Amino acid sequence: MNKFDVSVDTRLCKACGLCVLVCPKKVFELRDEDGKSVPVNALACIGCTQCYQICPDFAITVYKKEGALA
Ligand code: SF4
Ligand code: SF4
Repeated sequence: MNKFDVSVDTRLCKACGLCVLVCPKKVFELRDEDGKSVPVNALACIGCTQCYQICPDFAITVYKKEGALA
């Protein structure tokens, strides 16, 4: 079970694509319609927080899941 989860607030996302470029696990893709970021592969997140740190619009939240055994 993955220990982390990630979400994007689409109200804040400006579709710059920086999170797509920086994520080592290819968690994000830009949506076709409006170009905003979607965490399509959130299960692969390793909690490095690089996306959170690089997002200029504070749209990304990285969660550490409670109760993960390992
Ligand atoms: S870095 Fe932030 S603003 Fe840019 S696409 Fe990702 S979530 Fe959206
Ligand atoms: S925390 Fe790291 S692995 Fe997880 S989505 Fe962000 S950049 Fe990708």
